Amino acid sequence: MKEKLEQIKKKAVREIQNSDGLTKLNDVRVAFLGKKGELTAVLKGMKDVLPEERPVVGQLVNETRESIERLIEETKARLEAAERELKLQQEVIDVTLPARKNRVGHRHPNTIALEEVERIFVGMGYEVVEGPEVEYDYYNFEALNIPANHPAKDEQDTFYINDKIVLRTQTSPVQVREMEKGKLPIRMIAPGRVFRSDEVDATHSPSFHQIEGLVVDKHITFADLKGTLAEFARQLFGEGTKVKFRPHHFPFTEPSAEVDVTCFKCGGKGCRFCKGSGWIEILGCGMVHPRVLKMSGIDPEEYSGFAFGVGLERIALLKYEIDDMRLLYENDDRFLQQF
Ligand SMILES: [Zn+2]
Repeated sequence: MKEKLEQIKKKAVREIQNSDGLTKLNDVRVAFLGKKGELTAVLKGMKDVLPEERPVVGQLVNETRESIERLIEETKARLEAAERELKLQQEVIDVTLPARKNRVGHRHPNTIALEEVERIFVGMGYEVVEGPEVEYDYYNFEALNIPANHPAKDEQDTFYINDKIVLRTQTSPVQVREMEKGKLPIRMIAPGRVFRSDEVDATHSPSFHQIEGLVVDKHITFADLKGTLAEFARQLFGEGTKVKFRPHHFPFTEPSAEVDVTCFKCGGKGCRFCKGSGWIEILGCGMVHPRVLKMSGIDPEEYSGFAFGVGLERIALLKYEIDDMRLLYENDDRFLQQF
């Protein structure tokens, strides 16, 4: 019996030492110590041992078992350490590699210009209001005093969804929607995307942005309009900027005017930028037509107001001296990075 145990132990030691992985080591454990293992088989043979020898043999079996178990545990720890070491070597991180830079985007020139305009008007107590880009013909034209046969409707070359719904050609319909709410006085700007079926060139695009302004209150006069736009021009283009109002015609305002500002490059002396005139055209404006007020349910005898509209792209192009509007829409990273 003693010899048999010695044999088993030797065999176990050999197999444990030959184990080159944790799986194989586990196989060895099962083969010797498991329910059907060799050592267990010896224990089952105890009944054949003489009763007086049993304690001695039992102790021998236990000792053998313990030494095999100890050897397995030691080997297991060694194999685990080796595997961990190998894994660490394979997953090595090269801290000397240059880091991949996270590209952070930044604001589009249109956005910068819009935020600048919003800042100026919010500073004067205006509210920023938005409206739908797909608009009823009524709000886009009719309620703005542009009847079905009015030439302005042709001029603008509108995208029609159907005969009652259009892609808005201006942000003025937002003003009508605001007036219809009946909450007076109104002091608002409406920035947003507008659509006209223009061919793309250096100064035209089928989709661009407008910022319209509207003030309706008692005793609003052309002097208020002029003072407001002069202040706007000074804040946008610089302290010395002057404004000039030229008579014009818009269906929704009466009287109407186009506004020029003194060239911020030459201060009005005339240069290449302002084509020698010293002035740069910037926006259209006027006193809200009494008929427009009436159609929105406001009594023109009691209330009056002014409105203006400026192209956002125009401001961005002027401010950043960009000579081709298409650059604003191409989203070429090399261009956008400059602002
Ligand atoms: Zn100039």
